[in-house]
Amino acid sequence: MSGDHEFSCRCGAFRARVAPGGPSGANRVICYCESCQKFARELGAEATLVEGGGSDIVQISSARIDILDGSESLAALKLSEKGPVRWHTTCCNTPIGAAAGSARIPFIGLNNEVAKLPEAMTGPVTAQLYRRSATKRVPEVGQGQGMFAVILGFARVMIPAMLRGDGARSPFYGPNRKPIVRVRRIEP
Ligand SMILES: [Zn+2]
Ligand SMILES: [Zn+2]
Repeated sequence: MSGDHEFSCRCGAFRARVAPGGPSGANRVICYCESCQKFARELGAEATLVEGGGSDIVQISSARIDILDGSESLAALKLSEKGPVRWHTTCCNTPIGAAAGSARIPFIGLNNEVAKLPEAMTGPVTAQLYRRSATKRVPEVGQGQGMFAVILGFARVMIPAMLRGDGARSPFYGPNRKPIVRVRRIEP
């Protein structure tokens, strides 16, 4: 379909397509938190971090994602009990994104150094999160700092997705609304 966007893992075995949509359906944030940094290090994927150890994240409804190839190499882990389920590939340890543990909240925060969604789909960065945890001083960008700005943008994308019942069409969850793979728990 025109306007959609394909991306793949570093080795190319996993491929996915993101359905068309403009900035109103996406919330782009940079997160500098230690968990996001740890996730990248755990995978040996530091190259997917941006300046200052940030993760460039585009939050969208996960129902917009179609897995075209390599779904068998999808795996998921959690770094803390309350933290998100972090999806990655096992073929080449590419981080894909962070999602909720249940299809009730059908978002995924795609790592945009991997997904490379164009700005026409994501809009500009709306907020930065945990900027004080950055590995170096990074300039302020976006309209907001901190959790409140992120929650606003998240709600703008996620409330319509929840009302549409997108959880039932999200490839990361099975019919029981739980992740399709066993989520590994990595100890701190
Ligand atoms: Zn791969
Ligand atoms: Zn983070």
